[in-house]
Amino acid sequence: MHPTPFMLDVGDLLTHPGDTRSVEFGGAIEAEVEQARLLGPVEVAGRLEGLSDGVYLVAQVEAPASLTCNRCLTDWEEELAVEVRQLFAREPDEDGYGIREHWIDTEGPVRDELVLALPLAPVCRDDCQGICASCGADLNTDPCQGHDQAESSPFAGLKDLLSD
Ligand SMILES: [Zn+2]
Ligand SMILES: [Zn+2]
Repeated sequence: MHPTPFMLDVGDLLTHPGDTRSVEFGGAIEAEVEQARLLGPVEVAGRLEGLSDGVYLVAQVEAPASLTCNRCLTDWEEELAVEVRQLFAREPDEDGYGIREHWIDTEGPVRDELVLALPLAPVCRDDCQGICASCGADLNTDPCQGHDQAESSPFAGLKDLLSD
């Protein structure tokens, strides 16, 4: 077996339920939703607790993400911070996480929390004006005037004639 950076040897905790120790690890995780994706590396810091029925992980997770504004399409980076709390059971139920020999693989729970934290419709700032639907100008930096009045311009009627 080739352990990934997210796989932890918990043999000591399995033989000593009640013990707790701190852990710090990390590595690359790829995840992407509509307009947000993880850039990595993901950093995890927390503690493992040995329980009679398994091992419990409580940790803070940090990862840089790239977001794209839903209104103006500007890209920016943001640090995501989430908490993971997960039991790795000696006898896991169907969709639970278990222990293989004396290893746990934390990548699934860490990834799940990060994906939940990726915004589906990021907005660069609350008052982002977005992009002009007529000319594509970024209305935050390049306010275009005139499209609103286009229909009342002297040429509006001409345009109708030409498009018929
Ligand atoms: Zn924006
Ligand atoms: Zn425009």
